[in-house]
Amino acid sequence: MALFRASLNHVAPFLTGVWHHVSMSNLVLLQFLLCPLVFIALLYNTAPYGRHFAPGWGPVLPNRLAWFLMEFPALLVIGIVLVCSQQDLRATVLIPWFMWSVHYGYRTLIFPALMRPSGKNFPALLVLFAISFNTLNGYNNAGALLANSSADEPLLSGHFLTGAAFFAGGFWLHFSSDRAIRNLRKDGFTGYRIPSGTWFNRVSNPNYLGEILQWLGWAILTWSWAGLAFALFTVCNLAPRAMANHRWYRQTFPDYPSGRKILFPGLF
Ligand code: NDP
Repeated sequence: MALFRASLNHVAPFLTGVWHHVSMSNLVLLQFLLCPLVFIALLYNTAPYGRHFAPGWGPVLPNRLAWFLMEFPALLVIGIVLVCSQQDLRATVLIPWFMWSVHYGYRTLIFPALMRPSGKNFPALLVLFAISFNTLNGYNNAGALLANSSADEPLLSGHFLTGAAFFAGGFWLHFSSDRAIRNLRKDGFTGYRIPSGTWFNRVSNPNYLGEILQWLGWAILTWSWAGLAFALFTVCNLAPRAMANHRWYRQTFPDYPSGRKILFPGLF
């Protein structure tokens, strides 16, 4: 018993130290907990929008409006939290905020405006889920930026530069792949075609891959639990859909290139 107490006396301060080091807000913890739930749910039920649209999910919204409503909270919430923080917004906050706003400005305004939807609708239930998630995520990531600013993090650290490079490369891949998909309907066609091009020749979903790289970059750049939770959530959200899309392409097009991977070139 004495031995047990003695070892506990050594272990307890260590565990307290670890806990103090890794402690994160409950809302970020919630975001981590959502990851496996979302992954398993989406593995067995593909989100019913776009090519996987299925009736029976309640009221629906037009595609463009749905995308606007879903993505806007991410743009809005981070802005409100940062502006209302009464903290001195230094470059360590302003530059990542700008990068976040470029992404969500694109997703909220440009992507819906340019998209060539086939006339399918979007379940309002999914829109509600996405609004809730984007609100939570915007709030958590604003907190991460403010915490970095108070900790007097240097701007040009190794992790900031590495993360920014991943983010920029991922955004370019995401944006250019969305454009390539959009161009498949340039002639007014409203069905589906096999996409091709450098990245599409390697994987079925380079737009998702680009977005995953972006948020991985964001996690490295902000070096925060909130950033990591978002990167993990993006993988859990997009990987099952990438699998469903890949399966759908192979079932729909008998001549679909057999060497094309799902998401990661040469791997998956
Ligand atoms: P898709 O690429 O499946 O669809 C985008 C648009 O392109 C839709 O208008 C779709 O039409 C059309 N389209 C898709 N494939 C073809 C094809 N083979 N031929 C012709 N037209 C096609 O992407 P998602 O709708 O799943 O996602 C859109 C964007 O949102 C992606 O860039 C993705 O990265 C991002 N996203 C991010 C998430 C995250 O967790 N961060 C979650 C979900 C999406 P239709 O509507 O008729 O199918």
